Amino acid sequence: MLDVDAVNIPDVSWWDLACRLWMAGYRDSDIGRQIGVSRQRIGQVKSYFPARPWIELGEIEQFNGPSELTFRRWIAKGWVRRSPSGLYHQEDIATTRRRLLARPCQYPGCSQPIGIIDILARWCAEHSLEVRRYRYPVMNEREKRAHYSRTRRWVANHPETAQEMQRRASQAFKKRQRYKRQN
Ligand SMILES: [Zn+2]
Repeated sequence: MLDVDAVNIPDVSWWDLACRLWMAGYRDSDIGRQIGVSRQRIGQVKSYFPARPWIELGEIEQFNGPSELTFRRWIAKGWVRRSPSGLYHQEDIATTRRRLLARPCQYPGCSQPIGIIDILARWCAEHSLEVRRYRYPVMNEREKRAHYSRTRRWVANHPETAQEMQRRASQAFKKRQRYKRQN
């Protein structure tokens, strides 16, 4: 009784329900089970279903998504909807990606977008280099106090080295300022 020409599929009694299940992100086998036809039967007609936003885990990268490891973190955070059959919502992937890229840099006074999707990233490209060289501007108050007292202790114990380092640092600073003015 289900021996219908694919072109006439919309006349089949289960068509509407099958479409709804498809749009809700059910897999062929789950659709088939719910309406009482085989997975293969669904496979034969599914090119007539409307386009849907659900994709398989294995398709994430080809839809401009992150690596699988990163994606699993997004899922754990509840940022990507999962269908009853375990497919993922393509739009949530795009939205999460855009949101992560657009996060503002946390360096004081900088509002450039971070520009990478790494959840732990806090700085724009320029400042991620900067904070690796010189962390002071991005320390919190507790870190700053600890830094001060460590520095004071060290300077007290190494007065000559400290003086020499200070001299070199101020030379390097002046050199950078000159370089900035010239370029
Ligand atoms: Zn920045």
